[in-house]
Amino acid sequence: MPAGILILGYLALVLAPLGLAWAQGLAPRGVWDELASGLGLLATAMILVEFLLLGRFRAVTGRVGSDVVMRSHQLLARVAAVFALLHPILYASPRAPAPVWDVTHRTTVETSWPALWPGIVALLLLAGLVGMAIGRDATGIRYQHWRLMHGLMAAMVAGFGVWHALRAGRYSQDPGLAALWLGLLAVAGMALLWVYIVAPLLRLRRPWRVTEVRNEGDRTWVVTLTPDFDGTMPYRAGQFAWLNVGHPVFSLDENPFSIASAPSAGREVQFLIKEHGDGTRLTGQIAPGTRAWLEAPHGHLTLAAHDDATGVALIAGGVGLAPLIGILRELNATGDTRPTVLIYGNRHAGQIAFREELDELSRTHGTELVHVLSEPPDGWTGETGMVSPSLLKQHFDRDDRRDWLYVLCGPPPMLRAVEATLLNLGIPSSRILSEQFVYD
Ligand SMILES: Cc1cc2nc3c(=O)[nH]c(=O)nc-3n(C[C@H](O)[C@H](O)[C@H](O)COP(=O)(O)OP(=O)(O)OC[C@H]3O[C@@H](n4cnc5c(N)ncnc54)[C@H](O)[C@@H]3O)c2cc1C
Repeated sequence: MPAGILILGYLALVLAPLGLAWAQGLAPRGVWDELASGLGLLATAMILVEFLLLGRFRAVTGRVGSDVVMRSHQLLARVAAVFALLHPILYASPRAPAPVWDVTHRTTVETSWPALWPGIVALLLLAGLVGMAIGRDATGIRYQHWRLMHGLMAAMVAGFGVWHALRAGRYSQDPGLAALWLGLLAVAGMALLWVYIVAPLLRLRRPWRVTEVRNEGDRTWVVTLTPDFDGTMPYRAGQFAWLNVGHPVFSLDENPFSIASAPSAGREVQFLIKEHGDGTRLTGQIAPGTRAWLEAPHGHLTLAAHDDATGVALIAGGVGLAPLIGILRELNATGDTRPTVLIYGNRHAGQIAFREELDELSRTHGTELVHVLSEPPDGWTGETGMVSPSLLKQHFDRDDRRDWLYVLCGPPPMLRAVEATLLNLGIPSSRILSEQFVYD
């Protein structure tokens, strides 16, 4: 239950401040005051723990996948923002300085300006942060600039939030809870330090060089890198890397790409990159010899914990083939005799990548290869339309394929539809691995 451990760990961290507050045994106030304080404690803890859900920590992403971590990060941040916004509104006690005899602020809510302003700043920044994340595409800000602003604003929200808790919080005056806030703040700071300073520094010892860039169909490129250091990069077929080509090691110009090569094929790694936005549009112009940096491996789209699967079904949409061909290549290179099926959907024939190699794998490895085109050319003999439920039924509604592993990668609507069909066919969810290429 790897996901269960993560959920328990998460709950333990975000509920710890509430637990410490409760353990203080202070005289209770009205229900609205307690609710308001509770939401404030919960929101602050959730915001601090968000820094561990940056999608860069293998202990987290390796268990549930980066896309699940990133979507949880987004959802939990929005929930924390709602709690934080409700927190000042719900207080029902008079907003006045506490009488001198009321040392635990039982009768009033702390509203002195020095206690309040860090909270107001944190709240405004948090609202801006979540708004900018939801409306990122509409802002037109370059992704890398947006990421930098996102990180800086998040760090400020955390800092001002903890400052406010320590100054204004009734329960946070307790040394135990105050220490917990400072501890969580330090962990959040270290998470940022690790991702943006320490990990890049470590990468300096492992430089890569681009050895080949070749066109592989419609606006799609194969980029091959070779290590300029002794040794290899350990990874599993199907995992992905944060790739920085031609920028300084500390640059935020790095993007996630699945590794399309097979680990047992040697030291080189290969990527299949489809032009998408500002950065990838320039892929074809990368010159061999260009310096590159890799932060890897990440991702859970691997056969690692599935030795007992009796076959492997790979279902790809467009450039979603990248991790799946890595898996297929590895199965072939290691002489794995389990049966394989590759269902590969594209819009038109010009988008089919590694066509000849796939034909070769179909002949030599016995992979059942099913091409699906929604805009087929004249004389096309493969499947047409979408990767539909009936097509999936045709191939997988068989008792001997229920114990297979199903590995999916492609556009989110396709993944949702394929996953629903497989579940309807009785494939257990534990046998379905999927990864999407967008975090939005
Ligand atoms: C786990 C994973 C594996 C991927 N594997 C592949 C692959 O093998 N081949 C492939 O062609 N594409 C892959 N992608 C998609 C690829 O990362 C984006 O197409 C690429 O980052 C776009 O960069 P850009 O500079 O052209 O786009 P930009 O113009 O900078 O941004 C366009 C959009 O791309 C996304 N994006 C850009 N930069 C990042 C980033 N650093 N992190 C996350 N999202 C970003 C955002 O949604 C952004 O709005 C993968 C994505 C993920 C999350």
